[in-house]
Formats: sequence, structure tokens, C-alpha cells
Amino acid sequence: MKKTVRDIDVKGKHVIVRCDFNVPLNDEGTITDDIRITSAMPTVNYLIQQGAKVILMSHLGRPDGESNPKYSLKPVAKRLCELLGKEVKFSSVPEVVNDEVKKNAEALQAGDVMLLENVRYRKEETKNGEGFSKELAQLADIFVNDAFGTAHRAHSSTAGIASFIPAVSGFLIEKEIQFLGNAVEKPERPFLAIMGGAKVSDKISVIENLLDKVDSLIIAGGMAYTFFNALGYEIGTSILEADKVELASSLMNKAKEKGVKLQLPVDIRVAKEFKNDSPSTIYEMDQIPSDSMGMDIGKKSIDIFSNMISEAKTIIWNGPVGVFEMPKFAEGTKAIAEAMAKSDAVTIIGGGDSAAAVKQFGMEEKMTHISTGGGASLEFLEGKELPGVAVLQDK
Ligand code: AMP
Repeated sequence: MKKTVRDIDVKGKHVIVRCDFNVPLNDEGTITDDIRITSAMPTVNYLIQQGAKVILMSHLGRPDGESNPKYSLKPVAKRLCELLGKEVKFSSVPEVVNDEVKKNAEALQAGDVMLLENVRYRKEETKNGEGFSKELAQLADIFVNDAFGTAHRAHSSTAGIASFIPAVSGFLIEKEIQFLGNAVEKPERPFLAIMGGAKVSDKISVIENLLDKVDSLIIAGGMAYTFFNALGYEIGTSILEADKVELASSLMNKAKEKGVKLQLPVDIRVAKEFKNDSPSTIYEMDQIPSDSMGMDIGKKSIDIFSNMISEAKTIIWNGPVGVFEMPKFAEGTKAIAEAMAKSDAVTIIGGGDSAAAVKQFGMEEKMTHISTGGGASLEFLEGKELPGVAVLQDK
């Protein structure tokens, strides 16, 4: 168990918090979705209430080690002011830390909040440069990591800084570790994992790790066609990773050895072109025409998958089961989301595209937990220790 802000005395201390304020902005520089900022509020509000002197930091986009107004955190500072109902001192210094910033940090009073400029304005950030880690650490007495979305990266602001000052987690990281960790390590059974998305290659390690933990595993979406190919079926022009066919066979064998029920779609909605308006038909999975590609799962698959979902007590879902961005091929993904929304099991959505799908269908409230980190949640499910979590003090 990692220490959290609750486990240390922060009163009157300078506390530097790594948040994930990597929010989407439109061409006018307006934030189009502030969920990442609102998600950080419990930790920030707690620190203010406890009388800490709060310094916030984050990255935004990929400025590649140079200052660039397009990636400034200024709009985030404005939104933070609105959400907190108080002044947030924005430090618009392109070097992120310099003497002026140090002086301003020192002058903070209990309950004050300051936001540094984009940490990725500094080249050293993504290289976990010791000098920059130290500069950040010199601003504060305590480091709090609350950026789950970047916890799988060993950067100065997520990991390096913890070599110099005590490090604990914020409430967001605590929640992620609790939900993802409990689901994987102490699942109520039956435990079902649903893996979809475009490629097997992105998720091999996750599938391998989960085969040791789950009772059943659904493999669908673009990655299923590599498995169909391994089984000797015609897959037409569907997405295929030819160099992963053997691996797909070995994963199927491993599932058999471990007594894990591995369920592939039994029918597929196919189209001739990768377009929403391309006419589509449902075929049995062993009847895919050679000139067509699988775009979504069919109705029988929806029934089978929904049934498995209704019987499970813990469900982890990562990756859409069809090309859900095209409305005509979103039916399968929507049905999975609906079945999960109806279930009283613990339902966990790995970040990224499945989280986007659940939001698109307006079903966020019905899930137990939607992870805020795509890459980070995948690495967590692979069984890896995340660098930004590893550096935090143990209880
Ligand atoms: P990932 O980032 O690996 O989770 O993949 C998500 C992407 O997989 C989404 O953009 C989906 O459109 C895509 N996808 C899902 N099913 C298919 C399919 N049958 N063919 C091609 N792409 C798919």
C-alpha cells in the first residue's frame, strides 16, 4: 500500500502536485473537456483545506522541450480559478523553474495555489533529467503524484523528483490503484476480461497476464481476425497482423491449459469498404467473403457476450469490439457498454477508446470505475509496476 496525502502532515508545508492537466483545446485555446481538471479537485481541495502551500504542475501536449504558447497551461489556470473559486497564481515562466519562480513559491501562504508552466517546455522532463527533477523538488517539501495518465512514464515531474523529497499519492492515483488493483488481484468471480481494439500487438502482455487471473476472456474487435486466421478461417480484407498469428495460437493454447474460457465472436458484420456508408451484412465467422472486412460483431455474438457479462461478478473492458467511431458499426460496442451498465458486477473500463465509447453512449455513471489513463491502465493490467507509483512511499 502506498502512502497518500492523508498519511502525512501537510499543514504549512510547500506541496508540489503532479496533475494530469493534458486537456483537449480547440483552435481558440478553449478547453473542450475539463474532466482531467475536475478529477484533480479532491486532492487540490484537500491540500487547501489542510493549509498547505500548493504548487501544481502538469504537461500539456508535446511541445518537445521548447516553450510554445500553443501548449501553455494558461487556460488551465483560468479553469482552476473558476473551479476552486479562488485565485490561482499562474507562473508563465517558460523555463518552468527559475529564481523568480522560487521566490514566488517561497512567498505562498497557507491555502494559496500556484500553477507552473508546462513541464514539457523543458527538454530534461521526458528524459527524467536529474537537474530538472532537483529544481522542481527545491520548490517544495513534499511531492504528491496525482497524474495516473502519466504514471507509466519515468519523467522528472512523475518520478525523478521523488529522489529528493518525500513522495505520496493523491486521491486520484489512490482510486486507480484501488480499483484496478483489487479487480486484478482480488476479483469477485467469475472474472471476465473483454479485450478489443485494433491490434493484438498492443495488448499481448495484457492478455498473457490476464490469462493467469480471469475465468473467461472475450477477444473481439480488429484483433480477433488474427485469431480467426490462426484457426484457419477466411478473414477477407479484415485487419490482420500476420506476424502475430502464431502468438494468437499460443494464447489460445495457453487459455485451454489454464481452463480459461476464451470466447471469440461467432458472427461478424462485414463491409466492402472502411466507411460508415458502406453497405453491411452479418456473416457467420467462418463465412466471411474474401472481398469484405469485419467491422463489428454480429447479433449472435452480442447475445453470447451479453450473457457472459450478466454472469460475471468482475469485468474489465479494454478496447472497442468494432469500429465504433462509425455509427453503423457501433452497435456491438454499444451493446457491450449496455450489458455492463445493466450488470451489478464490478465494472472497470480501461482508459483510451473504450472509455471514449462509454462516454459517447452516456453510460459513465453506470460503471464502477473508468480509468483516467489509457497507456497507464494497460501497463497496470500487464502486471507492471508504474514508475510514477513505484517512487511513492509505502505505508
Ligand atoms: P485500440 O486503440 O487498440 O484500443 O483500438 C481502438 C480502435 O480499434 C478503434 O479506433 C476502433 O475503430 C478500432 N477497431 C475496432 N474494431 C475494428 C475492426 N473490426 N477493424 C478495424 N478497426 C477496428
